[in-house]
Amino acid sequence: MRIDIISVVPGLLDSPFSHSILKRARERGLLEVNVVNLRDHTTYARAQVDDYPFGGGAGMVLMIEPLVNALESLQRERVYDEIIYLTPDGETLNQPMANALSLKTNLLLICGHYKGIDQRFRDHFVTREVSIGDYVLSGGELAAAVMVDAIGRLIPGVLNDESSALSDSFQDNLLAPPVYTRPEEFRGWRVPEVLLSGNHKKIDDWRHEQSVARTKDRRPDLLDD
Ligand code: SAM
Repeated sequence: MRIDIISVVPGLLDSPFSHSILKRARERGLLEVNVVNLRDHTTYARAQVDDYPFGGGAGMVLMIEPLVNALESLQRERVYDEIIYLTPDGETLNQPMANALSLKTNLLLICGHYKGIDQRFRDHFVTREVSIGDYVLSGGELAAAVMVDAIGRLIPGVLNDESSALSDSFQDNLLAPPVYTRPEEFRGWRVPEVLLSGNHKKIDDWRHEQSVARTKDRRPDLLDD
């Protein structure tokens, strides 16, 4: 999978893809992430990419022209399955969305900044709008990093044990069960005996019960679905 990201602050994305699982995905050639500096695509003086909003008001707006220039230069190289604008008023990112996007070949993520991007770009070029939650970030870069992580770890071959992703929270509309590791006892707190039993059927049953109980307690809305 290839993910291109258009950003006005590309430095914010220097590190998130250079460690741990996403680093391995890139090294294995399963995920390619390319960050494009919007300022490289403007024809305005002093690399200007934003301007005052028509109608007045606080904050700047990213101009349509550099965004279209960046998009069209990327589209000369490949066709995108989705052109996604990260925005607080988009559909909320969730596990089913990440699952579906992990099967795509080419994604383009657009990061807004300041007050956002010119609505005409959203109307005419964006195919999907995604929020990472009901709060406002300064820019779309951290949201893009969250999306790439959520999607990238699901690409077949990225996780060493692919069944691991299937037992995570939100797969099957359940939260994950509690997990423990060595030592068996710490300050008198013992690991549940069933996990030490070696009986895989009992362990699976216990984990399922724990998942259901935790979901009922913390996210009963998931069970409604
Ligand atoms: N004026 C916009 C509004 O109230 O909806 C917020 C603009 S925000 C300060 C700047 C940029 O950060 C947005 O254009 C978007 O790309 C990104 N952003 C902020 N919050 C986000 C969220 N919850 N999910 C995804 N992107 C977000």
